Amino acid sequence: MRQPLVAGNWKMNGSVASVRELLAGIKAGVAGVPRCEVAVCPPFIYIPQASAELAGSPVFWGAQNLSTEAAGAFTGEIAASMLLDFGCTYVIVGHSERRTLYGEDDDVVAAKFAVARAAGLKPILCVGETLGEREQGITEQVIARQLDAVMAMQGAAVLADGVIAYEPVWAIGTGKTATPAQAQEVHAFIRGRVASQAPEVAAGLRILYGGSMKPGNAPELMAQPDIDGGLIGGASLVASEFLGICQAAHESV
Ligand code: PEP
Repeated sequence: MRQPLVAGNWKMNGSVASVRELLAGIKAGVAGVPRCEVAVCPPFIYIPQASAELAGSPVFWGAQNLSTEAAGAFTGEIAASMLLDFGCTYVIVGHSERRTLYGEDDDVVAAKFAVARAAGLKPILCVGETLGEREQGITEQVIARQLDAVMAMQGAAVLADGVIAYEPVWAIGTGKTATPAQAQEVHAFIRGRVASQAPEVAAGLRILYGGSMKPGNAPELMAQPDIDGGLIGGASLVASEFLGICQAAHESV
């Protein structure tokens, strides 16, 4: 059985004080959701604070991005080894904001995935279509292209014990959520595509949904057979909302 994972993507939000308060709230409630694995991905600069404040708690932490390079003259970049230095377990790769605002194409995302895996981090690979692509009826083509880029670089085995987040771009931060049926359809497509190359890997793959997930819509989404948790943006900044989503994941298994 796949243990659900709920990961918070804090994006570029927070301060020392708000991070302290948010982490305290999450720590206070996490014991109530033991069947859900819980993780937070703060901005880089708050990762040392998260590592200090979460040490000894069941909450994992990670980053929102990493460099493809190991070290050297790459101003402003952060290497996988640095994330490991501060106890990161997870790293998000290929978020749609990185793809659209910072020009990360499928090859860059696949390279980041490979670097993270090689370092021993657990990459959370984000895939998803834009509204225009959905309206053109090419959702599956887009997802297949994003997924295949990673599998082509290293083979499907690289997804063993992996995490993929299906995040329809039109649902991120917009208040519009994919219906449970729409999400399940794409999640099943993702699992099927991985299964065509590596059935055992596909069976263990956790596929998270992301896109305006809230405590109110989480139970129905989590009840879908191929939805194994959530990647949460806005709602991850409020402890009670984030924990409400974790609760739905906890109750889904
Ligand atoms: C995200 O950016 O990963 C996300 C899912 O955001 P939101 O929950 O705010 O839609």
